[in-house]
Amino acid sequence: MFKIALLPGDGIGVEVAASAVQVIKTVAEHFHTEVEFKECLIGGCSYDAHGTPLTDETIQTCYDSDAVFLGAVGGYKWESLPHNLKPEAALLKLRKSLGLYTNIRPAKIYKPLVDSSSLKKEVLDGVDFVVFRELTGGIYFGEPRGFDTERGFNTMVYSKEEVVRIARMAFKVARERKNKVISVDKANVLEVSQFWRNVVHEVHKDFPDVELNDMYVDNCAMQIVRNPKQFDVILTSNLFGDILSDIAGMITGSLGMLPSASLGSKYALYEPVHGSAPDIAGQNKANPLASISSVAMMFTYSFEMKKAGDLIEEAINKTLDDGYRTVDIMSEGCKLVSTDKMTERVIENFKEIYHKQGLGVFTL
Ligand code: NAD
Repeated sequence: MFKIALLPGDGIGVEVAASAVQVIKTVAEHFHTEVEFKECLIGGCSYDAHGTPLTDETIQTCYDSDAVFLGAVGGYKWESLPHNLKPEAALLKLRKSLGLYTNIRPAKIYKPLVDSSSLKKEVLDGVDFVVFRELTGGIYFGEPRGFDTERGFNTMVYSKEEVVRIARMAFKVARERKNKVISVDKANVLEVSQFWRNVVHEVHKDFPDVELNDMYVDNCAMQIVRNPKQFDVILTSNLFGDILSDIAGMITGSLGMLPSASLGSKYALYEPVHGSAPDIAGQNKANPLASISSVAMMFTYSFEMKKAGDLIEEAINKTLDDGYRTVDIMSEGCKLVSTDKMTERVIENFKEIYHKQGLGVFTL
């Protein structure tokens, strides 16, 4: 039995979280496992109900769960609130409270969408890699920091423990993939990067079967656009990962397609990369695929059910291959569908692929 804290949030977060729940229930049923949801408020809706975007009760529910699913937060209504009461403040506080030190964003090409990328088809075919970004350290949190009228400064600092734990996670995941890690830094200029590199190589001694290479961040940005197929797992710090994961995400197409996972030692949170999209909220137009793909990551990383995660991805691919599109990824000759219809198609395809592969027979 897996306990899931469900935090739909605001705007289309509510709609895509509903899609996620349907998919989770279907997958759990087919893989003969049980799931229990506990739903909580987060973001603007929590502010309206409790005067704060994140209550202690919501945090406690996350502590009591095996995984957290988050839709999205924010909206016009709460834009003028003070910084600490804004819906988005809940995200930073929640990630910190759960100790989520690794953010994982995949760059995966869905073949049917290959033409909507800004890169050429032949460069993209077969691209499938993940970016491991350190999330709770580095220059975004380092002290001292500040500015006055004459100068501004931040501090990029990493402790050994911070590097070791994310490196171990990256090497472990690489073993389940193509067994290749590229650690990205700026060791030719920054001492903190030289330290990062030394520690990653020390950790590598425990994973000698995994191929490890180093790459400078400027070269990596270029290589992701030039030849993205060469990558399997990119391991990098907070600042570099922030930029590289956006490049990696966008070469594969639309915001409505991008999932993410944030993992710590004890807790894990899964969420689509997009926001609450107030411009289309409540209209049954949102693309639920980023959310559904985040569910695939939940099965893979938190429940250690990689087969289930892979089947969800296959179902998404088949749905796109059948020509179904929400408005954000619509192209000529395709069938425009609602959030609900897209979700229904993925679920039907999941069931079909599951039975075709004879999985029902194996698991009975
Ligand atoms: P956004 O991601 O919400 O929307 C950007 C554009 O992409 C919009 O035109 C929207 O309609 C479209 N879009 C996004 N997701 C889509 C989907 N699944 N299907 C179809 N179209 C989709 O970003 P924004 O407009 O800059 O921000 C809106 C609100 O969301 C703000 O309050 C912002 O702070 C918040 N936000 C929250 C998160 C989060 O909860 N993790 C992330 C980013 C932004």
